[in-house]
Amino acid sequence: MNAINQSGWKPEMGSGDTAAAATFTGNRALMLEEALIFEIGSDTTCGVDLPTTPKGSSRLGNLARAKPIGLPGLSEPETVRHYTRLSRQNYGIDLGFFPLGSCTMKHNPRLNEKMARLPGFADIHPLQPVDTVQGALGVINELAVWLIELTGMHAVAMSPKAGAHGELCGMLCIKAALEARGEGHRKVVLVPESAHGTNPATAAFAGFTVENIPATPEGRVDTPALKARLGPDVAGVMITNPNTCGLFERDLKEISDAVHAAGGYVYCDGANFNAIVGRVRPGDLGIDAMHINLHKTFSTPHGGGGPGSGPVVLSKALAPFGPLPYTARTADGVVHLIEEADAEAFEREHFGRPLTSFGRMTAFHGQMGMFTRALTYILSHGADGLRQVAEDAVLNANYVLRSLEGTLDAPFAASGPCMHEALFSDDNLAEGFSTLDIAKGLIDEGFHPMTVYFPLVVHGAMLVEPTETESKAALDQFIGALRSVAERAKAGDPSLKSAPHFAPRRRLDETLAARKPVLVWKDAPLAEAAE
Ligand SMILES: *Cc1c(COP(=O)(O)O)cnc(C)c1O
Repeated sequence: MNAINQSGWKPEMGSGDTAAAATFTGNRALMLEEALIFEIGSDTTCGVDLPTTPKGSSRLGNLARAKPIGLPGLSEPETVRHYTRLSRQNYGIDLGFFPLGSCTMKHNPRLNEKMARLPGFADIHPLQPVDTVQGALGVINELAVWLIELTGMHAVAMSPKAGAHGELCGMLCIKAALEARGEGHRKVVLVPESAHGTNPATAAFAGFTVENIPATPEGRVDTPALKARLGPDVAGVMITNPNTCGLFERDLKEISDAVHAAGGYVYCDGANFNAIVGRVRPGDLGIDAMHINLHKTFSTPHGGGGPGSGPVVLSKALAPFGPLPYTARTADGVVHLIEEADAEAFEREHFGRPLTSFGRMTAFHGQMGMFTRALTYILSHGADGLRQVAEDAVLNANYVLRSLEGTLDAPFAASGPCMHEALFSDDNLAEGFSTLDIAKGLIDEGFHPMTVYFPLVVHGAMLVEPTETESKAALDQFIGALRSVAERAKAGDPSLKSAPHFAPRRRLDETLAARKPVLVWKDAPLAEAAE
């Protein structure tokens, strides 16, 4: 049966029905279907006319290709349309609200982009003579100063290229510090149940053994349980603050003091710094190392738009072990790049001890484009503006939480105000309905779904992070949509089970896709030619 009948498109029709099946082209009005380039391209078509190459002897010998390479070609207008059509099937922060919790998906001001594209920042090379890149080094240094100031820490390693990379940097600092003390036998890292998956993964990758610390019924770290586990085998803890339940870890100072007294170090996952920037300095909470996701807190693009950037701020205890290079402005006002050769003298002067850096995280200095964007964002907000960012982000999250707690189960709503994100569970849906159905229903409403099934401490978690950049009107529309979808899930509306109905593709078999991913387009005629 065709999906379109006299009364129009009916989402409650069988899951096999699509509007696309009803049109000759498969297009739905201005929403265009698009085949893969391997299906529509041909290896005899080229978008440009190239002059025939003059005959010459090949120096490739038996490496010369005997068969055609099999790459699909299209004419120039076809190429432009192909990628434009595909891009219209995508969703992005410039198109609409992105409620992904734990991700801080906020508007990226265009000013940042303009600055990052200035030739003096965009067209330089890391191997250029240092005296020709003083401006770029100045940007790195100035950003470093802001990050140290905002976190109340002692030093910053700018080079890590993402949050997870920063975690590795911090854990390698802790390892180096323990080894320097002759306590390399401390192998246990304590990680709360609600931690982001990257935390235990990083600790394990750095050679530590991970042990979980339970959460309290109100969604915070169980401080007595953590303290009870401290001992001579514990290297440290990895704690997220605000945590992934959207709550501030009120006991963090007490926890840090206990960990330090037991000879360990405190790593803080700073991915949620957006909620406290300008209001709380992690250094005052006794943190030894914390990564800052510039691509979250300081607005630079991430996800498919990346790359990320994860500078790591370090306490006085860990600073001497940080990765090279350091950048520092010396008394003459010039920014100096401290590389291997001069690091020892520099570290002696600044940290009062010889070189103990664990090495390098990257070949060069990190993500220059992200540094420029982040510094632009920081300077255009100023210190008071950054504080306002945190306040508005928290206000928006509490607005979402209080607007929906009567509709969805909000397990920690009684724990007091949330920080930057609101957490819900699938506890009060109709039999057979789950978080996945709500997420798919939201796609039909034109919203990217929130983070689902994370954190694991809550059944069927739905984690919503509105960020400060959304207006009340945008939040009201989202709240209305989520409430409507949730009511359908509570009433057991069968059409929700097959949502999305209006997206270019219907509900996929995600288990099959994960277990048997099809990563190569095998059926295209061109693929055979390339074999
Ligand atoms: C995003 C995130 C990370 C990882 O950061 P990446 O930049 O994606 O590597 C770690 N922890 C938390 C809580 C996060 O939200």
